[in-house]
Amino acid sequence: MEIDYHKIGLKAGLEIHQQLDTGTKLFCKCPTTLIDKKESRFSFNRYLRASKSEMGEVDEAAREEEKYSRTFIYKGYDSTCLVENDEEPPRELNREAIDISLEVALLLNMNPGDEIHTMRKIVIDGSNTCGFQRTALLATDGRIETEEGLVRVDSLCLEEDAAQKIETEGNAVGYSLDRLGIPLVEIGTAPDIRTAEQARKVAEQLGMILRSTGKVKRGLGTIRQDINVSIEGGARVEIKGVQNLRLIGEIVKNEIVRQLKLIELKDALNKRAARVEHRIEDLSKIFDATSSRVIKKAGGNVFGVCLRGFSGILGTEIQPGRRFGSELADFATKYGVGLMHTDELPAYGITEEEVERMKRTFDATEDDAVVVVAAERERAEEALKAVLRRVEGAMRAIPEETRRALPNGSSAYMRPLPGAARMYPETDVPPVEIDEERLKEINSKLPETFEHRKTRYKEKFGLNDELADKISRNVNFSLFERVMDSYENLPATLVVRTLTDTLAELMQEGIEVEKLEDRHFVDTFEQLASNAFAKEAIPAILKFLVNQPETSVDKAIEEIGLIADMEAVEKLIADIVNSKTDFIHAKGARAVGPLMGVVMKELRGKVDGKVISKILEEKVKEVLEDG
Ligand SMILES: [Zn+2]
Repeated sequence: MEIDYHKIGLKAGLEIHQQLDTGTKLFCKCPTTLIDKKESRFSFNRYLRASKSEMGEVDEAAREEEKYSRTFIYKGYDSTCLVENDEEPPRELNREAIDISLEVALLLNMNPGDEIHTMRKIVIDGSNTCGFQRTALLATDGRIETEEGLVRVDSLCLEEDAAQKIETEGNAVGYSLDRLGIPLVEIGTAPDIRTAEQARKVAEQLGMILRSTGKVKRGLGTIRQDINVSIEGGARVEIKGVQNLRLIGEIVKNEIVRQLKLIELKDALNKRAARVEHRIEDLSKIFDATSSRVIKKAGGNVFGVCLRGFSGILGTEIQPGRRFGSELADFATKYGVGLMHTDELPAYGITEEEVERMKRTFDATEDDAVVVVAAERERAEEALKAVLRRVEGAMRAIPEETRRALPNGSSAYMRPLPGAARMYPETDVPPVEIDEERLKEINSKLPETFEHRKTRYKEKFGLNDELADKISRNVNFSLFERVMDSYENLPATLVVRTLTDTLAELMQEGIEVEKLEDRHFVDTFEQLASNAFAKEAIPAILKFLVNQPETSVDKAIEEIGLIADMEAVEKLIADIVNSKTDFIHAKGARAVGPLMGVVMKELRGKVDGKVISKILEEKVKEVLEDG
C-alpha cells in the first residue's frame, strides 16, 4: 500500500536504548557480562504493588499491571550482589558510564546539564526488584540531520537495564538478575520524523554514532528501539522492543495502516449503529460433547458475549497476519485466555452446529458477531470485560497504547500508554556535577563527525554534496573507504550508489542484505574493477551472494550466467528481432524502444544496457534496410 505521508500527517519519534560496554554496572561493582546458561546460585520471590507517586497518583499502566496479580521469581549469581537483590542501596553513579554518555551527547550536538540527578521511574512488570528503574537526565536539545530534514533529539538519559525475563508459567514470571543494572543510554527524539524511510535512517544514524564511540556493547539484545507513531485522526501509539533495524520502516508503515483501518472500522460501526451488550452468557452446555481440544482443555467452560452489528468486522485484516479479532485476542491473552469469534468459526474443532447454537443463545442475526473464551468463570469474565472495553473504545476512537513489536513487523497490544506520574527522585544516589574541564577533555577526543567526514570525502574522492552526505552518514562508510583505497579505477559514484541505493532497493525487495559481509562487497568490487562483469550485474551478484554466502564472486558470475561471450548476446538479440519483423516494419525506427524492453527482460544485469541498445539499433536497422 502506497502511503501519502503528507496527507496522513505522520509524526514519529524514536527512543533508542543502548547498553554501554563499561567494566562495572551503573550502581554497583558487578561485571556487565551476561551469564550464558542462567544456572542461578539462588532465587527469591517478590510480589509488587503499584505505589503512589509524590503527587498521589497511581500510574494507569502500573494499575493495569497490578490486576494480573503475578509472582516474580528472581535468579541471582556469583556475579550479582545485594544491590541487584534490592537488599542494599545503590552506590554512586558509574563515572565511566557518565563519560561515555556525555561523549554521545556531544556527538548529537546536545547540551549537557550542570548536575546529574538520579530519578525513579515506576515499573511494576517485575523487571526490577525494587519496583522502579533508576534513570538520570544528562543532556537535552540535540539534533540529527537527514536527507528529509532535521530531527531534534530531545533527551539523553543514563539508566540501568532491567532484569531479563527468562520464563513465564501461569502467574509466575522468572527474571534473571545478570542484566539488571547494566548501564544504558536512552536517546529520545522529538516527533519530527515524517516518513517510514526517514525513521529507518534516523535509527541507523543513532546506531552509528553510538558505535563510533567504541564503548557500547554489540550483538543481539544490546540495542533496543521504541517507536512513537501518530497520524491525523489517529492516536499516539508506542511500539516497543524493536531489535532489528531493518524492521523499523516496516513497523511504522504497518502502524499507519493499522490506524487507517481502525478509523475505517470505526466509521463502518457507527454507520451500522453497532452496539455492545454487556450480558456474559455461560455457553458451556452447548459444548458438552464437543471435539474441540481448546475447549476440552479448559474443562468445557465456555463464556461469550454478543457484539451487535459486528459481523465481518472482527475478520477484517488490519496488519499483515493480524485481524481486528487479533486486537481483541491480545486483551484476552493478558488473562491467559484464548479468544474465538464467529467471523472465524467454525474452526478449532468447533462445529457449524455449535456455532449456530451459540448465536441462538443471543438471538444473534447475520449482522452480529459472538465472541467466546474458554476458561473458568472468573477468568473468562475478566477477559471478556477487557475485550468489551476495547470494543467500545473502537467505536469512539483509536486508543493510545503501548504495543509490542512482532517479528514480522506487525505489533500486539501490551498496555496503556504510561502517564507522566511515573518519576520521583532517588534519594539514595547523590547528584553528580558535570564540570567544564571534564567536558572539554571528552570533547577533545571525539570520533570524526558526519560533517567532517563529508568534507573529507568531497575533497578526496570528488563526490558531489548529495553523495558525500549520503555515504558519510551510511553504516557502510568505512567499507566505502576501504574499497576506494584498494581499487582506485572504480568511480566513487558507483561505489556509493551500490552501498546505499542498491542495497536499499534490494532490501525493499525483501532480500536479506544484512547477511552480506564486507568481504562479499570487496570481492565484488575487485571483480568489477578488473572488468569481469558489467556494473548492471551488481544487484544480481549481491542477491546470489545473499543466498550462497560461501560462493566466491568469480564463481557467482559463472553461475548466474553473466555473459562475457558477446557472440551469444548478439545471437539472442538477433533472434528476438527476427521474430518481430512485422512489428519493426510497422513501427520503423520507433520499434527500438518497445523491443529494448523485451531484450532487457532476458539480459538485465548480465550485459551493460548501453551495449545492448547499440546492438539492438543495428539489428533493427538491418531489418528495415533489407525491406
Ligand atoms: Zn551488583
